[in-house]
Amino acid sequence: MSYTRIAKINATILFILFVLATSAKSGEPRFFRIGTGGQTGVYYPIGKIIAQGITSNSLTEIPAQLGENDVSAYIGVAQNSGGSVDNVFSLIAEETEAGLVQADVAALAFQAEQVFKGNDQARSVRAVASLYSEKFHIVTRRDANIHTVEDFRGKRISIDEIGSGTLSVMRIVLEAYGMSESDFQPVYLKPIFTRDKMVSGELQGFTMMAGTPMEAVSQLSDIEISLVPISADAAAWIKKRYPYLVPGHISADAYANIPEVSTIEVYALLVVSATMDEALVYQITAALWSERTLAMLKSGHPQGRFITPETALDSLSIPLHPGARKYYQENADRFRGFQE
Ligand code: GLU
Repeated sequence: MSYTRIAKINATILFILFVLATSAKSGEPRFFRIGTGGQTGVYYPIGKIIAQGITSNSLTEIPAQLGENDVSAYIGVAQNSGGSVDNVFSLIAEETEAGLVQADVAALAFQAEQVFKGNDQARSVRAVASLYSEKFHIVTRRDANIHTVEDFRGKRISIDEIGSGTLSVMRIVLEAYGMSESDFQPVYLKPIFTRDKMVSGELQGFTMMAGTPMEAVSQLSDIEISLVPISADAAAWIKKRYPYLVPGHISADAYANIPEVSTIEVYALLVVSATMDEALVYQITAALWSERTLAMLKSGHPQGRFITPETALDSLSIPLHPGARKYYQENADRFRGFQE
């Protein structure tokens, strides 16, 4: 099928969705905006599938379960963003309805600590679900001979932008190695902007806390790259201080020609605000775990098959939203991890 034809079909679908959405009671389109991450990460493609799941479920299955005061249609929209920290800030600014957020960053928000210090609104983050495990990637040009974080010295490495969860984890990793950003030449770019610089050699590496495989790595197939390990000692040091950042590994099958490497990992959570309507969060949770969305996740991205009811409640670093809790309570047989 040609791109023009696909574009026309997409435009028609969008128009139908728009008409349905604007026919909701308030007369306003009802968008459910999900803050994700950069274009070449994993939050964005996964967020897009979850958004599609919300759109398709809200237009068919969900309304049947609702009372007359409930909305009749939502259009899910995945928005690019700086990452976890940004997603919390957008949520509390009501610029989004939900966000993908690393469990460690969600915990900091809930406790109003560090970057959220003194921000009482940040305490309102609530979990809908735990999605999948993200791995800390330190991607380097092979010819830069970087075998450990200590070899960053003298190198130009991009450590993601302010607002990313990656940057906050990178700072913790540096601390674990007794280093800081003044020990090398840090650059603060999202991975979408690092590709050409990695290829040209302007950058010797970049870092990213993300699921696997992420496009930012796969798209570097024309140069030789390595993944730098995080030592068991550093990982243990980190876990002691930041319990949601745990030792893990990037498996050999994640990227072509790259052997398994030890690293740290963290769960990615889908979060909303405590102020969000309980019935709506219930529907969102139902839409996320519907057979239809699960099938789309499975076929849409390799990381999607790890988003399962069995792990939906793993490593929740913040309380569940009452609407999500109600859904898990009613479906406790499917969600083994659920506890009252
Ligand atoms: N975990 C990353 C962050 O919060 C984003 C990962 C992704 O885009 O897949 O910055």
